[in-house]
Amino acid sequence: MKKKYLVLSGIIIPLILSSCSEETKPLPSQPVNEVSVSAADQEFSVRDIFAMDTFMTLKAYGEGRDKALGEAAVKITELEKLLSVTDEKSEVWMIDHAAGKTVTVSKETSEIISFMLSAAEKTNGALDPSVYPVVREWGFTTGNYRIPDDDTVSELLEMTGYRKITVSENSVTVPDGMLIDLGAAAKGYTGDVLAGIFKKNNIGSAVVSLGGNVQAVGSKPDGSDWKVSIRDPFDENGQVCIVSVSDKAVVTSGNYERFFTGEDGKRYCHIIDPSTGHPADNGLASVTVISESGILCDCLSTAMFVKGKDGAEKYWKENGGFDMIIVTSDGEVFVTEGIAGKTEMTGGKTMTVLK
Ligand code: AMP
Ligand code: MG
Repeated sequence: MKKKYLVLSGIIIPLILSSCSEETKPLPSQPVNEVSVSAADQEFSVRDIFAMDTFMTLKAYGEGRDKALGEAAVKITELEKLLSVTDEKSEVWMIDHAAGKTVTVSKETSEIISFMLSAAEKTNGALDPSVYPVVREWGFTTGNYRIPDDDTVSELLEMTGYRKITVSENSVTVPDGMLIDLGAAAKGYTGDVLAGIFKKNNIGSAVVSLGGNVQAVGSKPDGSDWKVSIRDPFDENGQVCIVSVSDKAVVTSGNYERFFTGEDGKRYCHIIDPSTGHPADNGLASVTVISESGILCDCLSTAMFVKGKDGAEKYWKENGGFDMIIVTSDGEVFVTEGIAGKTEMTGGKTMTVLK
């Protein structure tokens, strides 16, 4: 039987590195992964949305799917309004401009901050929502990229530190001068919320791709797993492998998403190592994290990217609760044992299974 494939989020946006002014926001980062969906007999609906600086594709099967997709689209807009670090009406903006005063925020915002703070603690600060001043200094928020001098980086690092942030129920306090950004977790959290909306609407089969962060709801209508293609960090049209999942999030952090090449010829990527104030450079090209929780995947893909292969492997062995696919800068691929049987290498590389 001839199979028909529909590719979601297949748009690759080329990065323009030098032509943005200080005020201009950079173009959206490159989508990471794609989902191939074999078109079954069942009817489906698709929604394409641009939000949170990225292209999103939502696809749902079954009765009630249009209502569910409508609710999902409204929720994305609501979350974007709460979480944007640049929108002067967002709750994150309120927190960042409260001059150290305690701010009362929604359940959603406080939930994400609490989750990030605990992930920051567990990852020993590899994830740190307060690293934003450093991210901004390198130009990743505007596209006006530059390599700051060591004194500037040291001064800015003084203004970071997740342990100085407090959350109690819906109250958040960030010391004066510090700034938080939830960008490393917001899309993962959004995926979880969307999955909840589909389930509440009795949609047993849906898949969302939020700039390549994939959240699979249930399985495909024929009961088989969703197939998620993991992008080859070295080839924007290539894939490293295909991973088969049901009811799981698949989230990648990679050095090809948003980056610039310095005059020294080095690639500087948008994920900052909070211990150095420099873009993470621990030998990785991408880390994909797979688990039931979108927010966990999002936090951990960022943190594991910072930690590098050995640090990520150690963290996985000590904590568990997730799987990962690591692609190193020299093209080696490491896959944790829980997902290895569901991972098909397609790009000519071989995998080493982590146990
Ligand atoms: P992600 O694409 O999920 O890995 O998140 C990266 C985004 O989170 C960046 O664009 C920054 O805004 C922010 N960020 C960069 N480095 C870190 C870090 N170490 N911890 C938390 N957020 C970070
Ligand atoms: Mg992340």
